[in-house]
Amino acid sequence: MALPAEEWQGRAARLWAALDPALREWLAAASLHDAVRLGCDLLRTKEEEEAALVRLCRRVCTDKEPAAASWYREQGNREFGRHQYQAALRLYSKAASHEPPGSPEVSVCFANRSAALFHLGHFEVCLEDIARAEGHGYPDRLLPKVLLRRAECLLCLGRLQDAQDALRVVESKIAVDGLMTSSAHQTLLKKLSQLKMKLHEKQRCPEPAREACGDIPGKSERWEENVSISGASSSLSLNFDTERGRHLVASQDIVPGQSLLKEEAFVSVLCPGENLPLQGGETAWDTGATNADLYCHRCLRQLLASVPCQGCSYAKYCSQHCADVAWEQYHRTECSLGALLLTLGVFCHVALRTVLLAGFAEVSRLVGWSHGGDKDLQNPEARCKPLSEAPDAGAGARGIPGCDSNGQYQSSYQALFHLLPHIEQHSPEHKFLCTLSVVAICKQLQAAGLEAAVLSQESPEQCLKPKTSEKTSDELSAELKTVAEAMLRHVLQLQCNAQAITVMQELGPGDGAVVNKKPVRLATAFFPVLSLLNHSCCPNTSVSFSGTAATVRASQPIPRGQEVFHCYGPHRCRMGVAERQQLLRQYFFECHCQSCLEELEPDVKSVVSMRNSFCCPKCQAQMQGEEDTLCCSNEACATSASRENLSCRLQDLQQQIQKASDLLSARKADQAIKMLLKCQMDAGSFLSPEHLLMGEMEDHLAQVYATLGKWQEAARHLKKSIEIVEMHHGPSSVETGHELFKLAQILFNGFAVSEALSTIQRAEGILSVHFGPQSAQIQELQEMKACLSELPRNILQRT
Ligand SMILES: [Zn+2]
Ligand SMILES: [Zn+2]
Ligand SMILES: [Zn+2]
Ligand SMILES: [Zn+2]
Repeated sequence: MALPAEEWQGRAARLWAALDPALREWLAAASLHDAVRLGCDLLRTKEEEEAALVRLCRRVCTDKEPAAASWYREQGNREFGRHQYQAALRLYSKAASHEPPGSPEVSVCFANRSAALFHLGHFEVCLEDIARAEGHGYPDRLLPKVLLRRAECLLCLGRLQDAQDALRVVESKIAVDGLMTSSAHQTLLKKLSQLKMKLHEKQRCPEPAREACGDIPGKSERWEENVSISGASSSLSLNFDTERGRHLVASQDIVPGQSLLKEEAFVSVLCPGENLPLQGGETAWDTGATNADLYCHRCLRQLLASVPCQGCSYAKYCSQHCADVAWEQYHRTECSLGALLLTLGVFCHVALRTVLLAGFAEVSRLVGWSHGGDKDLQNPEARCKPLSEAPDAGAGARGIPGCDSNGQYQSSYQALFHLLPHIEQHSPEHKFLCTLSVVAICKQLQAAGLEAAVLSQESPEQCLKPKTSEKTSDELSAELKTVAEAMLRHVLQLQCNAQAITVMQELGPGDGAVVNKKPVRLATAFFPVLSLLNHSCCPNTSVSFSGTAATVRASQPIPRGQEVFHCYGPHRCRMGVAERQQLLRQYFFECHCQSCLEELEPDVKSVVSMRNSFCCPKCQAQMQGEEDTLCCSNEACATSASRENLSCRLQDLQQQIQKASDLLSARKADQAIKMLLKCQMDAGSFLSPEHLLMGEMEDHLAQVYATLGKWQEAARHLKKSIEIVEMHHGPSSVETGHELFKLAQILFNGFAVSEALSTIQRAEGILSVHFGPQSAQIQELQEMKACLSELPRNILQRT
């Protein structure tokens, strides 16, 4: 997803292979500026490449298609008829995204969606959709029905005066429309009188005003912002040396859970998710939901009733406000390029949006600065003299790359521009692919008449005026070449500096009392301040996201003077040192973190391989050996087995577990249990009892029993899973926190009050360190606690 579609990568590779070797050599050492020039020349002469790209883009559909709209609406009506309101809601949203704004068709989509929202009890949002339907010209003859729904919503919300006014409007509307003969009108009248009765009842005995449920008094977090690094805590200082580059160090003792960084992404782009809206194939239109349907394309908030973009069927927003701001800032340029951006991947898209957000003036200033004559300027950091070992907190930032003239490091385009592009380290072939891709985007911008919009992003009036000197040649203008150069830099920077914004997404049927969540990548972003943190395989912080904002918290005590690290992905609890070093190569460094140094010592086995080992089928002792044949560590036993054979069994087992989990999703609980028990038997004969898969099976069993309401059984299995997770990830890890959260839900549902309370407390302790006291998880735990404490005493005494 990050990189361009495979076919385009293949084309670029063939083009690269066919280049004159001298040219290849030249490009390998070329500056970004020269690379863009070459890319322009190549794409101008290779028309078939451009044609191929156009063909590739046709597979992705981001235009509005009336045929798709009516198809989705019909599907929505079908689900609505089957009382599947959630599915209907999603389908009406898809339908709305394909209708032109202001058409009666789109207003019907909103009206239908308001009905689904009403049934789901989302009354406020339902009112918004009714207003939307009206705003887009909902047909007059259908209006009474929708207006009645508005009155009913207002009634449900307890806004009696508004409800009365709304009913009066419907009444006069029906009176004006004349004689009621059809049965549809009769139903309307009946409904109207019902609602009027309801209103009277409510007016006679008003519900007691709900107690203003004061927010749970969240512990206010200690937060003092750093004077020289925006968004950073005053407990940090920015240091620089040649070996570590820029990095953050604790300038005073830091306690676990303390917030260290709070940063809004400079730019973020929603990842399209697993299934792209592909056309052709068996089903013309996909009814499944991807990230693109589930989250706001600007602020990443979860969508309930999305506001579609006026121009394309792809971009969807949580509100008209987000739609307007996105349009103003970048989407008016991106809108018609949807298919191209999806084809060329998220990195290219982030690069374009970065440039649009920065504004051409700033882009051209920094690109010009980077040319500065001196070759080293291509890599601004190389120019810097290492600072003294321990500069004073705050004062030492002057002269560090990315800082402004006041020595301040801001979350700005200037700071972003200074993130390392590693121009020399990327393979020339990769640089070639990225160059062709950004040049293709810029050519498309020019061809679509969007150049003026890109160059004067800040003053929209100007882009209405067509440029006087209309270019007829397909040579890129000098300005667009500058844009391409900046974009190329950003694409290369992303390889090391892209930050994934993740959310915990619910898995499975989603109707159970126990919610199983896993983190999914939602967007790719630049966070200039967060990027100052170096990697460690055993980090001392943890990162969480809310919308497009990241928060970094200390996950353990960090004494004054110690460097603050976060983990780029390869964590010592999840993989062995060889695999980590392999993965970290994409960031162009060798990890020398504490864990790596320890594990690289001869005869030291990684935590992962020790725990995830095979055991002897005869005596259960650990199997040993680095070669193809493993031997039992119990000398008296002397059993041996081939590694290949054991690995095959492991793979089979994983497949079986997957099948069991599919059965669970399909609500075939009995079959899932049977299968999991069989898997456990099998695993016991060749896997160490501490193997992570052992825990995974226990976790799955707990879920199945929870769906059956067998809480005690579920809790028993989950506790075994927790033991194993704790062993692998540590007792205060996020992983253990999530498992404890699940256990709390199970105990809560099973009325195991005192145990539930103590589990909630433990989960709270761990999760608030990682996500903060205000996070959704903590709120949920506190609600459970409040609920349990309100239970009647006799229930409490039973436990
Ligand atoms: Zn939004
Ligand atoms: Zn659009
Ligand atoms: Zn490491
Ligand atoms: Zn043995």
